[in-house]
Amino acid sequence: MSPAAPKPKATPRGVAVPAGHPDLDGLTREVGIKDEGRDGPLVILTAGLHGNEPGGVRALRALFAALEDTPTAGRIVGLAGNLAALQNGVRHHGQDLNRMWTEDSLRALGARRPEDDTADESELRALFSIIEAERDAARGRSREVILVDLHSTSADGGAFSVVPDSLPSRRLARDIGLPVVLGLEERIEGPLLTWLVAQGDTSAVVEGGQHEASSTRDVLLASLWVVLDHARVLPEGDVRLEQARRLLRQARGDAPEVLDLIYAHAIAEGEDFAMRGGWRNFMPVEDGCVLADQRGQEVSAPLSGYMLMPLYQGLGTEGFFLCRAVSRRWLLASRLLRRSWIEHGLRALPGVVALDTRAGRILARRGAPRWMAHLLHLFGFRKNAPTGDVTEWTRRPQ
Ligand SMILES: [Zn+2]
Repeated sequence: MSPAAPKPKATPRGVAVPAGHPDLDGLTREVGIKDEGRDGPLVILTAGLHGNEPGGVRALRALFAALEDTPTAGRIVGLAGNLAALQNGVRHHGQDLNRMWTEDSLRALGARRPEDDTADESELRALFSIIEAERDAARGRSREVILVDLHSTSADGGAFSVVPDSLPSRRLARDIGLPVVLGLEERIEGPLLTWLVAQGDTSAVVEGGQHEASSTRDVLLASLWVVLDHARVLPEGDVRLEQARRLLRQARGDAPEVLDLIYAHAIAEGEDFAMRGGWRNFMPVEDGCVLADQRGQEVSAPLSGYMLMPLYQGLGTEGFFLCRAVSRRWLLASRLLRRSWIEHGLRALPGVVALDTRAGRILARRGAPRWMAHLLHLFGFRKNAPTGDVTEWTRRPQ
């Protein structure tokens, strides 16, 4: 947290939220819980981890209102993320609540007294304790756990989903039907979904469109209907499901079905960054074209691909991302290879010093050639931040 950043009073669990987004008046951490005592998975739906993204909270409220008269299986829990930031209509108060889900930061949280928390840390503590209690209870009953985290973007249009490359999470995202973006775990540390998938749960982020657009709530709500159907907690043949799938097909338009995130443009704290005008999600980008200005210098595209999440307002630690389309052939091959004995041959790759396919871990000398990175991606391995001369590649449970 920067010394200049404001440190508002922390909002404890369950305290009403009056301002920021006036329609969210009276918002509490638990937006809704639906549990009729019937067997089925635990479905956790989170929204507003970023306080300037009210669309997800609106979608959650609409969902739980609609579920009142609908019989459901399993347990559905809807949670609001950064209550204090939602209250003030800001993204966060110095620390991004969707970059704090690392082992280090959660361990530090456990070792610290709650009264020493910053505003954002106290939000993390509240959310973490509810999610952990729910997951513990679900595991005790051998329930599958699915978590979907709702977001929106500062740029207009182009809804999509993001998943770490585990097969169950990929299946969930493909079912939602928006363009699926893989590879975030290599570019960003500490999002909620990466932490959950690393522990074997199924998880996806849905980015519903521009923060304040009314269509964003509708796209996110439609995604939630499909998620509940995917989790088999809804009665069969619910008419709302067909409408939801139609809306999501329209929202995808002609964007690629699956993309891999290959570049993230970082912004250091306090750095001036201004995106040049007119960029939207999934617009093609040519290598070398000027995209933004940073510290008074032009920022040009380091490679060709598709634009993702250009930053047009407010706080952010990345200015834009670039993706490339992933073919159906690649998806099929990656599904088959992860179940085959061929992966033991990865030991023979240049620079590999250790391979543990069961634990999903490879250690390789730093600076692997690009073809090798592509090959490891195919087997589901993604690169972690390098330490010294060695890079660790890990695979989420498949
Ligand atoms: Zn967000």
